[in-house]
Amino acid sequence: MATLTSREEDYSKWYNELVIKADMAENSGVRGCMVIKPYGYAIWEKMQRQLDQMFKDTGHENAYFPLFIPKSYLSKESDHVEGFAKECAVVTHYRLKNSPDGNGVQVDPNAKLEEELIVRPTSETIIWNTYKNWIKSHRDLPILINQWANVVRWEMRTRLFLRTAEFLWQEGHTAHVSREEAIDEAEKMLKVYTEFVENFMAIPVIQGVKSPAERFAGAEETYCIEAMMQDGKALQAGTSHFLGQNFAKAFDVKYQSKEGKQEYVWATSWGVSTRLIGALIMSHSDNNGLVLPPNIAPIQVVIVPIHRNEEQLKAISELAVILTSQLKKMGISVKFDDRIEYKPGWKFNEYELKGIPVRVTIGPKDLENKQVEIARRDKLEKHQHSIDRLAEHIQNLLLDIQQNIFNKAKLHRDSLITEVNSYEEFKKILDEKGGFISAHWDGSVEVEEKIKAETKATIRCIPLDAKEENGICIYSGNPSKRRVLFARAY
Ligand code: AMP
Repeated sequence: MATLTSREEDYSKWYNELVIKADMAENSGVRGCMVIKPYGYAIWEKMQRQLDQMFKDTGHENAYFPLFIPKSYLSKESDHVEGFAKECAVVTHYRLKNSPDGNGVQVDPNAKLEEELIVRPTSETIIWNTYKNWIKSHRDLPILINQWANVVRWEMRTRLFLRTAEFLWQEGHTAHVSREEAIDEAEKMLKVYTEFVENFMAIPVIQGVKSPAERFAGAEETYCIEAMMQDGKALQAGTSHFLGQNFAKAFDVKYQSKEGKQEYVWATSWGVSTRLIGALIMSHSDNNGLVLPPNIAPIQVVIVPIHRNEEQLKAISELAVILTSQLKKMGISVKFDDRIEYKPGWKFNEYELKGIPVRVTIGPKDLENKQVEIARRDKLEKHQHSIDRLAEHIQNLLLDIQQNIFNKAKLHRDSLITEVNSYEEFKKILDEKGGFISAHWDGSVEVEEKIKAETKATIRCIPLDAKEENGICIYSGNPSKRRVLFARAY
């Protein structure tokens, strides 16, 4: 089997090769758009199932809104349209006709749309245009809706999963009677994302708010979770926006309060995307392939028989079938790979590449000794275990692997947070070590822009738990009240 470029040699190449070789996704014939292959999609489905349950547990329902947004809707909120204008795909015609030269088809000039349609880059406008009809009184609120969908943002520099022109995501859109209730919702969903990303994907994140320059177009506050990849570059893992009354005002959405007054509605929106699969790969995987946390692995345990003849395979299969059924009863997904066309060594490599957390190998000797060999993917370690209480052992092992993958990522992330007190130090750390740099900033957009232009580092977030601390801005020398986190990011 072809080996991977190592992370140390070329991190970016390692990532791209891994995505392809592990059969997660591939580039398509359409610029910037990817094909998500069954193995990658199985991970997305597991993420969806878990998140969907968490959304429902916090009172949300799913609904679906159109893919197309009339241009006039998008224009109604001025910051919003300005933020998205540069990356919109626009539908101008609704019909093709044969080319006069007989070669193929062309747009039919007689089929020009009266109003151009935008392929949704996000759905606030179409949804608030709809909420206008749904909301009359305080009794109609809150509205707590989520949509699972695809969106299109015409990104210029794309990379599988991390940044694609079309991506899959969920977008929550909620409507509330008060500022406080909407802020509570935006914060609650940030917590849901944190819990999901940390406990299921085993990726430690920092919760914070974005600086004004990095805020979602049309938001009053953007909450975010930021993750750190193995190469010292940050990745925005999820966002939750407090939209104030901006969209209610743009679409004239008012409700009658208990006191009988007409009030504008308060809004939030929040989303995570297939980018999280990129974060998963970049956070945990190694030079042998993917390393998947058990909670998100489509197959958690694979059983590989080692046999010389049919008879041996039959005896091994008997044990494998019992173990499979015990594990399934525990809710553990397991595959028994008894294909004879592939050698055990090939299978070992394949499952290592695919990041299956636990591999159980059973050979004729093992049967005699009433034991099996167990290999854990995260530590690349093997041990023997008796067939007694084997399923319980594997169940505990999976818990241990989940925890170990998180701990390892957290140790690494923590080692990549550096406090600096001067711009010289800032640039040195950024070039030599990367990671998050915790520094004082005077709160001005100009300084943020200058630092970005000079170093490519952006303010990733103002951490929610940042302590008040008097300091001076590393760039301007002006006073600052707290440190913020800078990093180069994907
Ligand atoms: P936003 O609506 O800009 O707050 O983004 C919502 C979520 O989608 C965030 O978690 C982003 O990290 C993610 N996201 C934004 N742009 C892309 C993209 N081009 N490809 C994949 N995910 C994206």
